[in-house]
Amino acid sequence: MTLHIDPARLAEATSGPRRYQMLIDGKWTDGEVGLEGERVSPGHGIVVSRYAFGSEADVARAVAAARRAFHRGPWPRMKAADRAAVLLKTADLIDARREEIARLDAIESGKPISQARGEIAGAADIWRYAASLARTLHGESYANLGDDMLGVVLREPVGVVSIITPWNFPFLIVAQKLPFALAAGCTTVVKPSEMTSASTVVLGEILMQAGLPEGVCNIVLGTGPEVGAHMVAHRDVDMVTFTGSTRVGKATVQAAGATLKKVAMELGGKNAQIVFPDADLDAAVDAAVFGAFFNAGECCNAGSRLIIHKAVAKDFLAAFEKRAARVKVGDPLDDATKVGAIITPEHLKKIENAVIDATADGATVALGGAGLTSAAGQYMTPTVVTGVKPDMAIAREEVFGPVLSVLEFERVEEALRLADLTDYGLSAGVWSRDIDTAMTVARSVRTGTVWVNTFMDGYPELPFGGMKQSGIGRELGKNAVEDFSEAKTIQFHRGPRTS
Ligand code: NAD
Repeated sequence: MTLHIDPARLAEATSGPRRYQMLIDGKWTDGEVGLEGERVSPGHGIVVSRYAFGSEADVARAVAAARRAFHRGPWPRMKAADRAAVLLKTADLIDARREEIARLDAIESGKPISQARGEIAGAADIWRYAASLARTLHGESYANLGDDMLGVVLREPVGVVSIITPWNFPFLIVAQKLPFALAAGCTTVVKPSEMTSASTVVLGEILMQAGLPEGVCNIVLGTGPEVGAHMVAHRDVDMVTFTGSTRVGKATVQAAGATLKKVAMELGGKNAQIVFPDADLDAAVDAAVFGAFFNAGECCNAGSRLIIHKAVAKDFLAAFEKRAARVKVGDPLDDATKVGAIITPEHLKKIENAVIDATADGATVALGGAGLTSAAGQYMTPTVVTGVKPDMAIAREEVFGPVLSVLEFERVEEALRLADLTDYGLSAGVWSRDIDTAMTVARSVRTGTVWVNTFMDGYPELPFGGMKQSGIGRELGKNAVEDFSEAKTIQFHRGPRTS
């Protein structure tokens, strides 16, 4: 693979590294201990951001601010319509700064700029959806309990929520959590990934401008052990919503268990794209290439396993490889790029090693297989591994890179067994024109989402999340605000008590 990275493009996009501070109680602040972080752009090899990093003391300050705002501030008590107005204003301000935010995410994470623009627009749409839901959370009443009793079930905000997000969709994932927590009347402490914090800080600026009261959204920057772990352990936090790896997710659930916090987890995936011979194979090839290599495969939803019927496997793979070889890998800031950079040199090494291990296990590299590390960052060619057997690590473990594993089947039951063989259960795709086949697979597969004759579409209206070890709970959808609330039952009695 040869790459041409144009330094002028990055110079145009930034005016040198900006230093980002944390937002605590409505004020921009450095950390108490004075920790500092910096980000080297994975697609350019240049320091692009510097951050004031926090520690336990800053988490304590942020949680105290959120707790004060929850008990004494106006946010949980104001009319839902007024909270919705702040969310709508936020969405407008996101739209106004879309290009700037997209560039920050592309530069810090290495994702293609054209894709980042779509994500920021999508995030604004989710803020609007959350605003629409804010006004629908109203509880229930029960007048059917006898003439002397009225039952009322309030939906109260859960309280102070810790929000922890990963690096692969920095601005989009915070949009899947924060606006719904705010809509419910919660107050929050947010920690973005230590590698891609810039766009979340810009969101903090936007929220202040939109009129969010002080202390309702606090942003603490820093690493998992120094910041995230304290946001999980703190006694005054009522709920933790986390998106990231299954490994850290499990540790987070355990730590949150010590104080019985409510948890919501969006974790890894090893998602199957199952193709039957009667499918529109052209469309399936396109979608399979997209599913495997979108966001350089650094995507919880990546269609990283192709489960293909033997009868069409040879032709399908030939078409797939032809199309995959044309996917443009390169500078995240180039409008034509489809696969950008890999998040860190260490992560690239892990991806390369997963491919090497697969070949040692007996699989074959049919396309790509090698990464490229240079002074201008690290990249990986779209890779296809064939001859994969169910017991190989490459068939079961998340690689989180542009690597497709191919498994073959002959009978529907075999396809279903292969689809469900991993510990993950996030999503799956099925390609068939036969309604019986499509429905059988869609109903049987144990994943939170199944796409039929499409792949990786998403809508704020539809719940998203994982079964098995891909997560706990769902994001988005009509219950997304309710998930940040608690039921409080109040029973009103009148007249003398008879028992
Ligand atoms: P990660 O688990 O390493 O980190 C996620 C976040 O947790 C980061 O902010 C990190 O600083 C923080 N963290 C790390 N250790 C912590 C600790 N001990 N306590 C509290 N917080 C801690 O994940 P990542 O590498 O940033 O992201 C990639 C992973 O995220 C992949 O496994 C991917 O599948 C998953 N992911 C899932 C979804 C989904 O919706 N299901 C979406 C995107 C990414």
